[in-house]
Amino acid sequence: MARKRSVSPTKAGPQATSGAQALALDANPAWLNAIRKNLVSWYQNHQRDLPWRADHDPYRILVSEMMLVQTTVAAVIPYFARFMARFPTVQDLASAPAADVLKAWEGLGYYRRARLLHAAAQAVVERHGGQFPRSRAELEALPGIGRYIAGAVASFAFDLPEAILEANTQRLLARLIAWPGELGKTPTQKRLWSVAEALVPDKQPGDFNQALMDLGATICLPRNPLCLLCPLAEQCEARQQGLQQTLPLKAARQAPLVSREVGVLAVRQNQLLLARRSPGQLWEEFWEIPTMHESGADPAGRVRLDGSEGDLIQAVRLATGLTITPGNALREFKYSVTRHAVTLQVVSGAVVKGVVEPGPGYAELRWVNLDDVVTFTLSAVNRQVLAWLQKDEAWRNLPPGEEPQARPKSRKKTSS
Ligand code: SF4
Repeated sequence: MARKRSVSPTKAGPQATSGAQALALDANPAWLNAIRKNLVSWYQNHQRDLPWRADHDPYRILVSEMMLVQTTVAAVIPYFARFMARFPTVQDLASAPAADVLKAWEGLGYYRRARLLHAAAQAVVERHGGQFPRSRAELEALPGIGRYIAGAVASFAFDLPEAILEANTQRLLARLIAWPGELGKTPTQKRLWSVAEALVPDKQPGDFNQALMDLGATICLPRNPLCLLCPLAEQCEARQQGLQQTLPLKAARQAPLVSREVGVLAVRQNQLLLARRSPGQLWEEFWEIPTMHESGADPAGRVRLDGSEGDLIQAVRLATGLTITPGNALREFKYSVTRHAVTLQVVSGAVVKGVVEPGPGYAELRWVNLDDVVTFTLSAVNRQVLAWLQKDEAWRNLPPGEEPQARPKSRKKTSS
């Protein structure tokens, strides 16, 4: 199958297979069969031993695939074990409070996935009596399940010949056909789905799809693919053309949106003031130190301030109902969310007076014992802040505040 071409990468960019040439490849039965045969043979000796592959349970497969979106296998494995111990069945997950699901997901990031997984479990129970539907179309009708995850569940759990296309297989297939377009573009996605569909066999499609993923993850690496070890080197157009280092093409990265926030540490008698984010907000139901937006594009819809002390006092009063005296700037923490690169400046705030009253963006405020903070669901940056606070006992140096009052309704418990 090897076809030598005279093209090679140039400074102007790689010269890859034309669309017509790439189209011809997956219409070539010999090319398709050689890939299937070589890949399945390789997989028998090189498949990864992953905990969600121990059986064909569609629930375990769904949980693992939702966790793996934008996240590495190594990072997912311990979360998967804890999550399955906490919610062993789809019924357990469906009936769990949202706060418990978020707590089990805490630290994995992209929390929308946890909410969608929870909603999908509820839909399986309510619409399908707790049994996963078997067709791709019915799976895609569940909340948060797109074409890739539906194909993964259908092929891994039910051995249906459905194609998959995720990060590793996109890269692998784009190289196999030396596709000249950018990965994120619609024509590229259409083309790669078409190749994936042509490749997936009727016999053991689940194993074949997992073999594609494993080859992409362990051999056809993003940088420096290990072509000398690759069972598909003879069928790979990028390799034949010397383009394996330059394909697939990626869109230029967009510059991050830089912003600053101010978070206030209000402490009284070993208790810290935490705020719970309102429904519909970024980090919905998560707890954090009361935080205001200072400058740049605001990803979270916070109370705004312009940096002067007077405005900080007013902003804190609006967000919490409390009047504080701002103290020292204690430490900066940096984090990113979507395209935003955010600096969180943590300041101390002595509470002077006021009645605890959640303002815009917050559903609840609560004074929390420092030892109990770990039981609350926190964003990654707030976990960093509170770990620092506890480790360095920095809270001991904060200015003491007067005892503020709290409205009874703010005592309602929503997280354990
Ligand atoms: S030959 Fe190289 S570039 Fe081609 S599929 Fe194999 S590892 Fe990837």
